[in-house]
Amino acid sequence: MAVQTVASTTDPTVDLGPAAALSCRECGHRVPLGPVFACEECFGPLEIAYDFSAYDTEELRKRIEAGPANIWRYAPLLPVPSDVADKPNLNPGWTALVKADNLARELGVTGGLYVKDDSGNPTHSFKDRVVAQALEAARAFGFTTLSCSSTGNLAGAVGAAAARAGFRSCVFIPHDLEQGKVVMAAVYGGELVGIEGNYDDVNRFCSELIGDPAGEGWGFVNVNLRPYYAEGSKTLAYEICEQLGWRLPDQIVVPIASGSQLTKIDKGLQELIKLGLVEDKPYKIFGAQAEGCSPVSVAYKEGHDVVRPQKPNTIAKSLAIGNPADGPYVLDIARRTGGAVEDVTDEQVVDAIKLLARTEGIFAETAGGVTVGVTRKLIENGVLDPSLTTVVLNTGDGLKTLDAVAGTGLTATIRPNLESFREAGLV
Ligand SMILES: *Cc1c(COP(=O)(O)O)cnc(C)c1O
Ligand SMILES: [Zn+2]
Repeated sequence: MAVQTVASTTDPTVDLGPAAALSCRECGHRVPLGPVFACEECFGPLEIAYDFSAYDTEELRKRIEAGPANIWRYAPLLPVPSDVADKPNLNPGWTALVKADNLARELGVTGGLYVKDDSGNPTHSFKDRVVAQALEAARAFGFTTLSCSSTGNLAGAVGAAAARAGFRSCVFIPHDLEQGKVVMAAVYGGELVGIEGNYDDVNRFCSELIGDPAGEGWGFVNVNLRPYYAEGSKTLAYEICEQLGWRLPDQIVVPIASGSQLTKIDKGLQELIKLGLVEDKPYKIFGAQAEGCSPVSVAYKEGHDVVRPQKPNTIAKSLAIGNPADGPYVLDIARRTGGAVEDVTDEQVVDAIKLLARTEGIFAETAGGVTVGVTRKLIENGVLDPSLTTVVLNTGDGLKTLDAVAGTGLTATIRPNLESFREAGLV
């Protein structure tokens, strides 16, 4: 497919709802909606600018509340056409906000502790939210192949969304990912390519492919469709506030890979305030990393504005981005809101996975171990205030990272009789 057949950036038939233009996060330069991601003036990241001026707050609230039990209830706030809910897609979102009273007791939280459990999405990670936005952009711009560079979860989310929507998919991952992630990425029938290198190598390769005739007509959800993709993370902010009764939480703990999710959760909260859907009050955003891939946490603690890349070495592979594109914006947000960025060791990640499972019956992947572990550490260090309403994100399912809890298994093996059961010492 030649690039000329992709809808031009000024094509009036491109309907992405309230999305009005792309705007540079650094210099504010605006360009028409299209499959571009970097500012032509300063190379800064482009993000979606909206026209929300026609909305009446109470009408909008009613429209959202009457909407479907998935992310499309927020279609008026996303870069998607108004009939998006009728199109073939995975309809992710509206996952459980679990009031985690048992975990709160263990951690000494008195102000209300919640786990936003995004393992409940169709491919068992938060990535279905972002892929659903990129899919609509791909439709609008006439792409027929969906692609991505992935730390694992994204590959599965792209494969599944492409299958549902009738796109071809070809996705790229580091060759040494967890078995659960590889199978989840392959089973939907698209092409899955392992790259000999880490995620940062995979991402670099994809950037090269975009500029090459071999990649013409391909929509890379997290590269040339990144401005659209990123908006999907706003739905986490919307859902948390709506599920709290249209109220901002006081504190949110968010995992950091590229940092996109954290920055867009902040954008989503700011939009709700501006639209009058929640009362304006201070909130703090905390970022969570694994010590073995902690470039943002290190920069935060050293008081730097720039993030020095690292070579990742951690069991939290879904977060193992050593050169996070949105790292500097994460630092800004943590500092502006009065939050922080912290990291935990792999051992603390495993302990936290078990703690969450034991207290709340939620089996998180390693990324959830990172956020719960960081929450515990921030409380112990007096950084996170246990008397305030706190939301911790679990962004993926433990079934995809079983190796992290290897050794967890049978309490006893017995012969099928009561005598043998008694001998096992369980009664
Ligand atoms: C991708 C991912 C994240 C966050 O990624 P960002 O690049 O920071 O947006 C968090 N948790 C899981 C499980 C993921 O797969
Ligand atoms: Zn710019």
